[in-house]
Amino acid sequence: MSGKSTTKRPWRKELKKQQRKRRRRKEAVARDLRLEEEEAHNLKDPAYQQLLQQQVQLEEEQKRAAEKRHAEEEEIWLRRDLLAQREFRLKQQQRTALEAAEVAKRIKQAEELAAKEAEQRRRHEEHEKSKAAAAAEFEQMMECMENFLNNDGPPPAELRRVVESRPNQNLCILYERTNCCRYGAPCVNNHRRPLLSNIIVVRHFFMHPLLEVEQHKEYANADGSLELSEQDLREAYEDFFEDVLPELEEFGYILNFRAVRNVLRHMRGHVFVEYVDERSALKAFIKLQRRYYAGRQLNVEFSCIKSWRSAICGM
Ligand SMILES: [Zn+2]
Repeated sequence: MSGKSTTKRPWRKELKKQQRKRRRRKEAVARDLRLEEEEAHNLKDPAYQQLLQQQVQLEEEQKRAAEKRHAEEEEIWLRRDLLAQREFRLKQQQRTALEAAEVAKRIKQAEELAAKEAEQRRRHEEHEKSKAAAAAEFEQMMECMENFLNNDGPPPAELRRVVESRPNQNLCILYERTNCCRYGAPCVNNHRRPLLSNIIVVRHFFMHPLLEVEQHKEYANADGSLELSEQDLREAYEDFFEDVLPELEEFGYILNFRAVRNVLRHMRGHVFVEYVDERSALKAFIKLQRRYYAGRQLNVEFSCIKSWRSAICGM
């Protein structure tokens, strides 16, 4: 300690503090003693004893009630916890099921795609194969035709064959009669076509506006009269006939020259040429195949027409 305060009789202050402390202790001891005496005195009183007992009972009841409440609360909490756990498991199961379904869907899609691709590949290969087979057959046929043309004697057996589009189906009556069918190659019935004949058919050879519209309205004037007449058609046909006949006659003697006077798309302008023999027809077939006339590539086939009357409607 230093300074003036230390010189101001500190012991006196300390003494007073000690005195206060002693007094308080003494008072406390006296109070405790008094309380003990009071308690001892009260304990001798039956009413006080009963009060104490009641107090103890009350405390015990309160304690039991608190324990019961606590137990109930705990049970509620446990149930809630169980419910939450069950809900979580359910959600997890649903999620797993959804994921499994998604995986299954993807696998199925991949399988379908693979099957589709395999089918496409198979079709492509089949197409290529049949294309190659057709090309080989064509080469062989052309060779047979060349041999037949360059040698005397009857045609070889290969050229006597009849090509059938659907061998196991019914004959297409229309094709048999006219060598034309509105369904063309996709027709469900069987189209028979000879590989050699003395008659050739040149498809869509003679074309004319009057043959190109099924109803001639487009060529009608306001009053309904036709701008192009049958006379025009006849003159055009005569011009066409004079134009093509000389070349066709170079291949051999012609017995019949007929054009289909029919506006139906699948028959329009077909020209049938009947030669005196198969060699002449074959020469025409080879020379005209894929040639162009009036801007259109010619398509020539051998025909098996048996009756002109049933095949062609005039002209
Ligand atoms: Zn048909």
